[in-house]
Order: sequence, then C-alpha cells, then structure tokens
Amino acid sequence: MKIAILSRKASLYSTRRLVEAGEQRGHTVRVVDYLRCCMSIASHSPSVMYSGEPLERFDAVIPRIGASHTDYGTAVVRQFEMMDVCVVNSSIAISKSRDKLRCLQILAHKGIGLPVTSFAHSPKDIDNLIKMVGGAPLVIKLLEGTQGIGVMLAESHQSAKSAIEAFKGAKVPILVQEYITEAKGMDIRCLVVGNKVVAAMKRQGAPGEFRSNLHRGGQPAAIKLTPEERSTAIRAAKAMGLSVAGVDLLRSHHGACVMEVNSSPGLEGIESATGVDVAGKVIEFIEKSLLDM
Ligand code: ADP
Repeated sequence: MKIAILSRKASLYSTRRLVEAGEQRGHTVRVVDYLRCCMSIASHSPSVMYSGEPLERFDAVIPRIGASHTDYGTAVVRQFEMMDVCVVNSSIAISKSRDKLRCLQILAHKGIGLPVTSFAHSPKDIDNLIKMVGGAPLVIKLLEGTQGIGVMLAESHQSAKSAIEAFKGAKVPILVQEYITEAKGMDIRCLVVGNKVVAAMKRQGAPGEFRSNLHRGGQPAAIKLTPEERSTAIRAAKAMGLSVAGVDLLRSHHGACVMEVNSSPGLEGIESATGVDVAGKVIEFIEKSLLDM
C-alpha cells in the first residue's frame, strides 16, 4: 500500500510512529505537510499539488490535523475524499469533533453519558447557565481551548458569575459544565481504533490541580476499563463517525462521562503508559478496511 500521513512535521512522535509501523508492515509511507498542499478543484479530475507537482496516488491517507489548522486541513482531507482515496477519519468527522459544542450535542443525542453542559448567548442568561448545571462548583471552558488551557473551576456562585460575565463581556465563547468532583483530578483516555478500544490510560492531575492533561503535568498510567467505559468510548467514537479516536472519560457517580472526542490523538503518552503498539493497530485497521472495500 501507499500511505500518506497528513502532518506538519515528520519528526513529531505520532507521525514517526505511524511511518515506522507502516514501513514495518511493508508499505510505502510518505509524510505530506497539508499546509503545502494546493488543491485543483476541477470537474472529473480533482487533484492535489505539492511543491508544484501533482501528488502521486495513495491508497490511504491518515490525517493528523492540528487544532489551529482545522479548516484548511479538513479541506485537504476532503480533496482526497473527492479523489476516492480511503481516509482514516473523514473531513466531516474531524470538523464535528473539533467543535466542542457540536460534539457534545451529537453525543447527547445518542444518549452517551456527559457532564451536564449549558450554553447561552445572552448575558441576561448567566444565572440560567449556572442553574442548568446544578450550581457551583462548576467548570467554565473556552470553546477554542486545547490542552487544558481555557478550562477553569469556579468554586462558588459568585466566582462563576463574575468569570462568566467577564467572558461574555469580552465576547469569548464559553460553555459551562457540571463539575465532576468525584473524578478527583483523574481522567481516562481511551484509544479507539475501528470498533475496539486498543489501549487506555488514566491521567492523574498534579497535586491541587483538577485538570489531568499531560501538558499540565498530569501523570499517565495504564488502567483497566470497566465494560461500561469500554462501550461508552466505542459508542462515542462511532457517534462522531471517527475510526481512530481518543475518547476522554471521567468516572462519575452516574457512570462514564465523555468530555471530549479527539480526532488526532497523540500516541506518545498512551504507547509509553501501556506498551501497546497503537500505530501498528492503526495500520492494521487500514489494511483490513481496504480489503473489505
Ligand atoms: P482540553 O480539551 O483543553 O483538554 P478538557 O475539556 O479535556 O479540555 O478538560 C481538561 C481537563 O480538565 C480534563 O482532562 C479533566 O481532568 C478536567 N475536567 C474537564 N472538565 C471537567 C468536569 N466537567 N469535571 C471535572 N473535571 C473536568
């Protein structure tokens, strides 16, 4: 097979691992910087130009689109779809999962457990936003935030109200969420490939920190999932239409709550915490998908 990995840099851990795993299985793998792809949108012959030359035909494309380039990145993925190339995570699924509000709405529609979340436009609705999630303590999230930046805990009604007022005043879009106290700064990342969870790790936030992101000092370790957590992660990835996904869960008193579904999950933390060859699982999944086509 000829596989393209759409990634800004060949040196990134996940990109390197996917190249290695593909080559180990006898495939030709090329890293393509999606920001250097030019698209020719012509009837009957859509193509992608790279450094002035048309790109060769690939059997499969693995998108690794950074959060700051979702629009252009998904347009490039869509162009490959128009060329009937098999893409691991469609442009639509990537766009849906990148929009935090849309993602939660889709998961809620499918009956998947979530922290109760509220969203409103008008500053007149601040008290309603707080009431809808059951009052303080609550979590406020910037819609555009990643890696835990832009996620904050408001412990009292007054601090929640003043923080929400400040964001509304500055026209920064936010959502408000029930705080899952019993998670105690721990979340679970499930790596879903196809319809299986191939690896799972817990991440424990640094002392005094409610955010468990590795970028915020969270510590990873392998974890055994309950059957409910496993099936929640698989259902969440499926609801978003993602064949490869990082599903983040919180353990709550009412079961597994999904916080986020990531379409380009990092492989470094999860491979080192679990010892699972996740990159290899992704390549195996492509091999099977192409056989079934
Ligand atoms: P980001 O997309 O920036 O990583 P998340 O929504 O994943 O933001 O939140 C970052 C971290 O904050 C999570 O990994 C989790 O540890 C903690 N967290 C987020 N939402 C909640 C919540 N509703 N209740 C308890 N902890 C939360």
